[in-house]
Amino acid sequence: MGASTGGDRNLRWLEIAVPAHAEAVEAVSEILSRIGHNGIAVDMPSVGAGGRGAEPLGYTVKAYLVEDADAFAKVSDVRDALGHLQAFGLGPIGELALRRVEDEDWLEAWKASLEPIRVGSFLVRPTWSDASAEGAIVIALDPGMAFGTGLHPTTQQCLEALSTLRLDGRRVLDVGTGSGILAIAAAKQGASEVVAVDVDPIAVGAAAQNAERNGARLDVRRGSADDVAGEFDVVLANLVGPVLVAIAPSLRARLRRSGSLVAAGIVRDAEPDVLVAFARSGLGVVDRQQRDDWIRLILTA
Ligand code: SAH
Repeated sequence: MGASTGGDRNLRWLEIAVPAHAEAVEAVSEILSRIGHNGIAVDMPSVGAGGRGAEPLGYTVKAYLVEDADAFAKVSDVRDALGHLQAFGLGPIGELALRRVEDEDWLEAWKASLEPIRVGSFLVRPTWSDASAEGAIVIALDPGMAFGTGLHPTTQQCLEALSTLRLDGRRVLDVGTGSGILAIAAAKQGASEVVAVDVDPIAVGAAAQNAERNGARLDVRRGSADDVAGEFDVVLANLVGPVLVAIAPSLRARLRRSGSLVAAGIVRDAEPDVLVAFARSGLGVVDRQQRDDWIRLILTA
């Protein structure tokens, strides 16, 4: 075989597919996006195939990587990380399936299938697209947290909430920034200062890189609400119910009086506990939105 002439079509590709329950999809996506080329894809549960509960796991998270000398070590790291996740009790995850991709054109087909998404005042598009929309604030991201042709519902709910808040000249804190999408959105919507924290160092790196790519000024740090000083006009927390319960006092401590806390990632069963924890911390609900099983709250102190 001759030397590679570069170009994706000369490479051999592997597909990793991991079935996951809705609650585990974000965490599985994050792990796969560490090794996936151009991020990951998520196949939604098929609708109408027997209705709710018919599929025990529902989603399939997929990543593609070049089959090179490091590929199998990377897959093994992913397996370990998924094992830790299971031990953590974060929703059920199925067996990782690995296969060679036979279709040489899959990459182009996949890229073409990822359409820009309009949410509130934002247009979220893949990095390789040059889409724009009249009056929209453009955010360019690899689809690491994207769901096939859509964004995670909880991320959408937060972007919608951001679209309704006044951010001009405001200080914003994004707790659990992940790809940085919400922090970038806040900065591009006119916030004067945006601090973004995440306990995961890989997320911190990704958020910083995405911020630069989008020309957004963020202060990205590893840690959580307790590792930041001062008060913010808007605090964003797209986490999961038990984490919101655990850090409710810290979120409250970072929120200026009459500021807005946007809390999301709450499945219906977790809502009562979250509401009790927020009420105990002196936070009252001013808005509630539900999409599928996901609840997003806006609270104030
Ligand atoms: N804000 C992004 C990503 C949400 S995923 C979005 O809306 O799409 C949740 C993120 O929270 C993950 O990156 C995870 O590493 C981080 N996280 C989990 N627990 C945390 C905690 N206690 N403090 C800060 N970040 C946390």
